Amino acid sequence: MMNGMDDIASPRRTKEIIQRHGFSFKKSLGQNFLIDQNILNKIVAAADLDSTKGALEIGPGIGALTEKLAQQAKAVTAVEIDQRLVPILQEVLEPYPHVRIHHADVLKTDLEALFQQDFADVSKVSVVANLPYYVTTPILMKLLEEKLPLENIVVMIQKEVAERMAASPGTKDYGSLSIAVQYYSVPELVCIVPRTVFIPQPNVESAVIRLTVREQPPVEVDDEAFFFLVVQASFAQRRKTIANNLKSRFFPGEGRERLEALLSEAGIEPSRRGETLSLQEYATLSNILLKAGIRG
Ligand code: SAM
Repeated sequence: MMNGMDDIASPRRTKEIIQRHGFSFKKSLGQNFLIDQNILNKIVAAADLDSTKGALEIGPGIGALTEKLAQQAKAVTAVEIDQRLVPILQEVLEPYPHVRIHHADVLKTDLEALFQQDFADVSKVSVVANLPYYVTTPILMKLLEEKLPLENIVVMIQKEVAERMAASPGTKDYGSLSIAVQYYSVPELVCIVPRTVFIPQPNVESAVIRLTVREQPPVEVDDEAFFFLVVQASFAQRRKTIANNLKSRFFPGEGRERLEALLSEAGIEPSRRGETLSLQEYATLSNILLKAGIRG
């Protein structure tokens, strides 16, 4: 190998690997590779790995982040959708026998089975990734909803999406994504990342976010599916009040009396907007609606 001593992520080695394999980037797969050691080190540090832990990487590309994970964790599993990258990964990660590469679409992968197979003898597992931006939300929701035994998820994503995930009630970024993410985890913005750390450079700004996965949800919800339905309905039209949004979804063709009585029982003014309600208020509201026999 020409520059065998360099890290994969060094601009020189990245260019060499790409050229030698005749690799061309596919925009449709969100391929923006990292070429900055500092950012990679920050991402890996935020996951708090050690030699007893496992790391799942989604979209390893040519292995820039995978290599750093391999230097910290006991076992690393990487799932890559692009078949062309598999032989490259096998070559560049050859010095790390505890790295497993799977050629698959992560959205179609049985992660529970993968965990049982690859992480049987690690103490805890983190997901660490520079995610493909076109599927960020479906990937994160799959990881959270499947209730995998995860310690944390540290990911590079589009800055705006990171801000929405971490937003507090009453701010313009707060919405159903904030509530879903905060129900399952505690989000923290790790850092904002300039476009210059990628090749090719993405069209959007990026950020690293850490989601510390909760062992228990922070609120008591009687029916999770219904809770999320109430949240969705409350944000159906952002400029409408909570009462108007709920009326269109759950009380069509009815007067407002029953809805207003239920809102009052939940301690929520009908004139408020969905973006002002806390997770606790959504939990109380959905439990009260459910008990009153309201269904999706
Ligand atoms: N980890 C590398 C890095 O940081 O340099 C590459 C990150 S790049 C932003 C995203 C990677 O995800 C690409 O390698 C792409 O092929 C892969 N990818 C895209 N969609 C995927 C999917 N559904 N399942 C698994 N990998 C996917």
